[in-house]
Order: sequence, then C-alpha cells, then structure tokens
Amino acid sequence: MIANQLYARHALLNDGWQRNVLVQWDGQGVISQVTAETDRPEGTEQTDWLLPGMTNLHSHAFQRAFSGLTEYRQQQQDSFWSWRSLMYAFAAKISPEQLESVASWLYREMLAAGYTSVCEFHYVHNQPDGSAYADPATLSQSLLNAASNTGIGLTLLPVCYQDSGFGGQPPEAKQRRFIKKTDSFLSLWQQLQAQTANNARLRMGVAPHSLRAVSEQALNAVLDGVSQMDRRAPIHIHVAEQVKEVEDCLAWSGLRPVEWLMEHQPVDDRWCLIHATHMTGQEYRRAAASGAVAGLCPATEANLGDGLFDFPQWQQAGGKWGIGSDSHIAVNAAEELLMLEYSQRLQFRSRNVCTDGQHEDVATSLYLGALQGGAQASGRAVAGIQLGQSADMVELDANHPALALLPEANILAGHLFASSRGSAIKRVWSGGQLRFDLQQTQPSASLEAFAAVRQQLLQQL
Ligand SMILES: [Zn+2]
Repeated sequence: MIANQLYARHALLNDGWQRNVLVQWDGQGVISQVTAETDRPEGTEQTDWLLPGMTNLHSHAFQRAFSGLTEYRQQQQDSFWSWRSLMYAFAAKISPEQLESVASWLYREMLAAGYTSVCEFHYVHNQPDGSAYADPATLSQSLLNAASNTGIGLTLLPVCYQDSGFGGQPPEAKQRRFIKKTDSFLSLWQQLQAQTANNARLRMGVAPHSLRAVSEQALNAVLDGVSQMDRRAPIHIHVAEQVKEVEDCLAWSGLRPVEWLMEHQPVDDRWCLIHATHMTGQEYRRAAASGAVAGLCPATEANLGDGLFDFPQWQQAGGKWGIGSDSHIAVNAAEELLMLEYSQRLQFRSRNVCTDGQHEDVATSLYLGALQGGAQASGRAVAGIQLGQSADMVELDANHPALALLPEANILAGHLFASSRGSAIKRVWSGGQLRFDLQQTQPSASLEAFAAVRQQLLQQL
C-alpha cells in the first residue's frame, strides 16, 4: 500500500459528500491534496464512507474512572452538587500513574468513537496534600503521555482555580489539588508551552475554571500573561451551567455569568464557553456575535440535570458550537450529536431542529457544525478533510446493519441516529496514522490498567 494517502468512494468534505476522493498528506500528517472525481491510484488503500475526524472540545479525563457510579438517589433531590462530591473524592486520590492509565484508555475509547482530537480541561495540579509536585507539570505530563500513547491530537488547557465561590471566597480543603496562584500558574503554563511548541499534534490553551473559581483580578492577570506568550491561545471557561451558579453570580455582581463575561472581557473567537446553558435572549445574541464557540456537552448535561440549551436561538444569532464528552458518561461523538438533536426535539416538540439552512439532512448539519466549532475551540488545524488540515479521518463500516446498502443521502443519519451505542465506525486515522481498526481490536492491557485504577480508587473511598 502507498503510504500517506487514502482513496474514498464517498468522502464528507466541508461542502458535503464527494465521490471518488483521493486524500494525500505529508510526513507530518498534514493534508497536502484532496482530489475528487479521480481514479484510484494502484496500491492505494480504499474506503467506502469517509468522514472528517471530530474534536472533543471538553474533557476531564480522570472523571471517566467514576462514570456510571453516581446513578443512585441519596437525597430528596439529587443534583450536580451531589455528583460533585464523588468527583472530589476521586480527584483527592488519583496519582500521576493512575491518571495516565485512565487517560490512555479514555483516549483510545475516544479514537474508536470518532474523536481524533481532544481539549483537556485539566484542573488537578497538586499533590494530595495540596503542595506542588517537584515538577509542577507532573499531572499535565500524565495527559501528554496519554496523548502520545494513543495518538490523539491534544489541546491541553491547564485550569486556573483559586476560589471556592464568587467574590474571592477562600478555597476549601477538598479543592487543594486544584489551586494555583497566578504566578505559579503562569510559570507552569510557560513550561508546558516550551515543551509542546514544536509539536503539531499538541497545542496549549488556558482555562480559567469558572467565574466562581477565579476573581476578576486573577482572570485578567492570567489571560494577560498567557496572551503575552501566545496571543492566539484558546481560552475555555465553564459558564452558566447551573441555575445556582447564575443566582450566585447575580447576587455577587448584579449580572448573569455570560452577561458579566461580555461586559468585563474582550470575548472573541479565542473563547469557548463551556455549557452556556442558562442564557437570556440578549446573552444568546451577544455571546454568538462575539465569535466564541458554545461548548455543548449534551450527554453530561443530561446526566447532571443541568438544563437545556436553546440551539435554534444560538444558531439564528450565527453562533458557533461544538461537542464535548466532559464527564465521559458517554464517549461517542455520534451519541453526543444524537442527544443534542433529541434534547431540542423534546424541548420544541419538533423534528430535525439542528439544521443549518445549508443542508437538508440534519445529520450533515450537526456533524459539520460540530466539526468547525470544535476545530476553532481546539486552536489546531483540524477543520475537516481539506488542504492544510490534519489528516484526521473516520471510516464508517459499509456493512454495519445501520448503513448496509443505504444511499449516500442517508448514510450519516444512519450513523448518528440508528447505529446505536455501538456506532458504525470501522477505522480511524489521526495525524495521518491509523489509530483504530475494528478488525484488529484485541483485549487490551490499556483496558486492564484502567479497570484496576478504578478498583483501587473505589477501595480508597
Ligand atoms: Zn467540565
């Protein structure tokens, strides 16, 4: 087989399906040519249905270790805040080696589920007693190792977390592994930037955790400091996920969280607003007009009972958006898109809601919308099968029961809506390298290590 090229009988390019497409890439895994309606050069690997690889724009890798373990009722009304107590328990214990095991398995799962890049919103920085590791980047290194072990593209977003509530409330003991003062945060960021700068598979961004965890002064200092090192570094922040967070922000400032951000920060296309669930009409319009991406995490938002994003309102305002698996209750790009569309159908008692006006097919609108927003939020060249972008591609299984013998117009909807949790993915390339092959999947040491870590952490509760 000729290396660094692939032939697809059908490929989803950014303007829709094209036939008989030859994709070629260079030694760095960057696409150098895309030719449609051409013959297959002899010796070139062939695929039937080829999609661009998706960016997962929001991940807390360690949370995969307790996904599915908070699904029982403890209180009269269980909530996000009760879920958070198990999150703290796991965050208190996890070691660098355990984090690498969990993240390595998770990133393999992501690749197999159609995610070729991930934005890791990484907030556990310190030793269990709250002191810094001898190398402050120790836990970040666990994630960089996991990305390297699996081949997924990574945007690493070290999180700045300083306070326990709006108005600079002092951190609680259970948050001690997260806390970095501004100076030590910026020196960690600089160290990681120096380490990752020359690797196209990696990108550094920054994540002020939320307005409840960072004061205005710290927010300004961190963003100024990072911008001096990289003026295009992506900025991600959790915002307006919970009604209580909106109420607390109003009590503190008289403004709602998204409103506060629009008033006090130059929000633009570097920004990714994670969740942005609770917004007024004016907030939808202002945030969409800023060029920021809405980072939607439909499965996690449903699992935590956050509330419903108003997708039509965001789209009518021209807003960009992408998907993330966040707590990893689901690790499946198709399932997140299905959840997003179904949440809107239930909310508006209507069908095929998330269409973009360019494609009649809701699956194509969903897929290409999430692809573009995810690429923007990642700060990496991962915006589809086109010149200059990373050779990140997903082959669908033409023989999958949900797809077999379907015409082109129905293939993507078959994958998103009818392939069920198994999805219909056959092979996945990230950076031009084959990273997942359904036919070569074997019992894995990576899975055994993941399950062992989960068992160890549960035994320590
Ligand atoms: Zn999150």
